[in-house]
Amino acid sequence: MVIQKNGIPCSCGQEGCFERYASMKALKNNLREALNLDETTRGQELFEMIRKNTPENKNYEIIEKVVSEYIENLSIGIINLINILDPQMVGIGGSFVYFREVLLERLQKRIKQTKDPKVNNIIIETAILGNDAGIIGAVL
Ligand SMILES: [Zn+2]
Repeated sequence: MVIQKNGIPCSCGQEGCFERYASMKALKNNLREALNLDETTRGQELFEMIRKNTPENKNYEIIEKVVSEYIENLSIGIINLINILDPQMVGIGGSFVYFREVLLERLQKRIKQTKDPKVNNIIIETAILGNDAGIIGAVL
């Protein structure tokens, strides 16, 4: 699903795909790049940087900008999916679950800001199976 016209090239051949902007890989890569960190900086460290980010932090604005853009892009894709599928609830799995504490409330608030009650009344939560949903599905 394209969410950005003339956006970042995607492995599927299109440009501006949802996953290029809203995957956890995208968030982690964007944070590493913005903070000049190398690829060995682990997700747990990045999570802590977001969790401990306060205005006193010298990288506060950089981290805040990356996270805000991520939430905005994730919201665009989720709102599109809500409009297409008309669900009662959205459950987000994958490694987003590990970042629940720093991302979920922001995402919920952003989606609540839409004027459309069909969208802003939807329950947004993390998936119960968390990051194991994919592997459990593959085994079943
Ligand atoms: Zn794509």
